[in-house]
Amino acid sequence: MIDATPGAWRPLPGPDAILQRRKQIVADVVRQGFIDDLHPLCGVLDLDTLDELMWSLQAVYPAELPAVHTIAAKAITLRPVLARFADAGFGCEVASPGELELALAAGFPAERIVFDSPAKTTTEIARALELGVSFNVDNFEELARVDQAVSQAVARIGRPRSVIGMRLNPQTGAGAIDAMSTATSTSKFGIGLADHRDEIVTAFAMRPWLSQLHVHSGSQGMRLEHAAEGVRLTAEVAADIDKRVGFQQIQRIDVGGGLPVNFRSDRITPTFADHRAALQAAVPQLFDGTYTLVTEFGRALTAKAGTVVARVEYTKVTGGRPIAITHAGVQVATRSIFAPEAWPLRVEVYDPHGRRREDPALVQDVAGPACFTGDMLAVGRELPAVHPGDLVAVPDTGGYYFSTHFSYNALPRPAVYTVGTDSAGDRRWSLARRAQTIEQIVTEAGEPSLKPLPFVSPACPSD
Ligand SMILES: *Cc1c(COP(=O)(O)O)cnc(C)c1O
Repeated sequence: MIDATPGAWRPLPGPDAILQRRKQIVADVVRQGFIDDLHPLCGVLDLDTLDELMWSLQAVYPAELPAVHTIAAKAITLRPVLARFADAGFGCEVASPGELELALAAGFPAERIVFDSPAKTTTEIARALELGVSFNVDNFEELARVDQAVSQAVARIGRPRSVIGMRLNPQTGAGAIDAMSTATSTSKFGIGLADHRDEIVTAFAMRPWLSQLHVHSGSQGMRLEHAAEGVRLTAEVAADIDKRVGFQQIQRIDVGGGLPVNFRSDRITPTFADHRAALQAAVPQLFDGTYTLVTEFGRALTAKAGTVVARVEYTKVTGGRPIAITHAGVQVATRSIFAPEAWPLRVEVYDPHGRRREDPALVQDVAGPACFTGDMLAVGRELPAVHPGDLVAVPDTGGYYFSTHFSYNALPRPAVYTVGTDSAGDRRWSLARRAQTIEQIVTEAGEPSLKPLPFVSPACPSD
């Protein structure tokens, strides 16, 4: 067992420590024979780094400040890893019925789960109320549905235990990555604050069971001050609502996640302490203990703990450019392959024994295994000469890369292993997720033959 007690807090690892851990990981992967013809790539999560990231978030908020820190499930849908977050006292932010059941299976208590889908069905709303899971209403039509569900729940179980909130779009504008910006004036998420401020305050005044405001205005490519501005506007609405009703109706402010990750080096920056400092500067009232603070970080809690390790199958020179053909491509690094400018990944080269190559750099391409031209992990990158049988390691892949498999070419989901130091100082390896088998791929590709369905007679148009 790895020690996850809060008392065991350690500082965040520096870049040298992270590199050292990764070198050890690749050497261990080779020694343990995780890479072979059937399994030419795998993912590894370093639990020491993961724990240090968790602790670094918990440590920047004083124990006396009421707070619920959740892990955004979509960043890391691995059941035993989510269970580790649950054991460390985290809650879980979920956005689909699958993620909700996964969070429950991983051991998160219902009162520490926050359900944020923008497309909740009537059944999902009823399930959240029955479980006592917190959820945030995304739009006025959903609010009308929740009105009905709440009155039915009240008739059945009395006042719902769920903390019910509303997601606001502060409409503060885009960050550097358009597809990742949640707070533009036309973003699909939440209720536009600039558009509907009075209706929002009135909606709360009419519903004493609405007690939470939610904003997720940060994202990769977004400055911390910009995201904090969204939280400041949200806290203003909270004060307006409380003033209107004459008591403290807003109990919790959920500031979302979206702390950017540095993909360019092994340095962890910005930190949760930087995030908190930006919030403190913009919204000091958030820290006076009036509200319970909810956070929903995903990438910043996980990215730096993950490494993809893949074998180089062949090398060749085409048009004068050396190209290494590896097994890590669009199936694991989907976003980076389709949007390499927004989601650059570093690539490191290791020899077949798992020793990092340090030879002088040479401009090369690193390709994935999928059958389309754009499946390139790196183009024109300066790297030590790559040889067949080498391994490439892709750092910073602990968030989203293991949980967002893309089944192009029916390429299987790779295994994900974890490694961490136990209390005796020994490195312990575990399996977090088995690799998808070829048999599973065939089974999941559909029925053996077309399956006739019962005949439904067409409705009579004259009715
Ligand atoms: C995706 C998401 C998060 C996590 O975002 P990160 O950038 O991974 O921190 C948190 N809250 C909501 C509502 C989200 O959609």
